[in-house]
Amino acid sequence: MTPLKKVGVSCRHLSLSYGPVQVLKDIDLDIQPGEFFALLGPSGSGKSTLLRAIAGFNRHQGGQLLIDGRDVGGVPPHQRNVGMVFQNYALWPHMTVWDNVAFGLVERKVSRAEIKRRVQEVLEMVGLAQYAKRRPSMLSGGQQQRVALARTVVVEPQVLLLDEPLSNLDKNLRVQMREELKSLQRRLGITTIFVTHDQEEAMTTADRMAVLDKGVLQQVGTATTLFDFPANTFVAGFVGTAN
Ligand code: ADP
Ligand code: MG
Repeated sequence: MTPLKKVGVSCRHLSLSYGPVQVLKDIDLDIQPGEFFALLGPSGSGKSTLLRAIAGFNRHQGGQLLIDGRDVGGVPPHQRNVGMVFQNYALWPHMTVWDNVAFGLVERKVSRAEIKRRVQEVLEMVGLAQYAKRRPSMLSGGQQQRVALARTVVVEPQVLLLDEPLSNLDKNLRVQMREELKSLQRRLGITTIFVTHDQEEAMTTADRMAVLDKGVLQQVGTATTLFDFPANTFVAGFVGTAN
């Protein structure tokens, strides 16, 4: 893959409501270029909403959202250079692994030779080259997750957004996959925002993380900072408890 330009993502007083209900409240956050960043919080705290706002699927009403210093308010998802992997993978069941991964490149009218080269490269990267002709239903959950990742990174987004990407996998596989994810992220150097409600997952993989509760950012920092110097009792309780 071509070396990516590493970009930062920033929220400035970001707020977002669904109808009368405010779900994100005055979020201020700076994610550094190339960082592996986790958004951590209990169910319903607004993690997916924030991720979807960054992707452009949710419109924020207040504040600013900056990607690589550019205010992307009003910029549609396909012009933001972000790639998102959803919790349920959303692979095309009737297409082979190869076609699932190639899809975004075909849509972008990339040449046939280039598609072949890039699909092969990412399938090798996620260890799935030998499964190219299979359909998703013939793969294990972990393999389907790798296809979803391959399909997202093949179009070379500048920001990778992962919404609870491992939550459908069993515990052992989850631990293995988070190592894989981390090593893929390191190799690509792509700015990655990873949503999880599992504090252990965040603390073992992320460079830094943000803890959300009820749409309010409670604290941002490294695992060590959050664990040793929690900003409040919520953070102390949340990062201190086993899942
Ligand atoms: P998390 O991902 O942390 O579990 P979400 O961002 O999905 O949280 O949801 C945050 C809050 O917003 C929840 O109270 C949820 O019920 C509400 N919510 C999420 N999506 C919608 C929607 N499309 N319309 C109305 N309310 C929503
Ligand atoms: Mg969610």
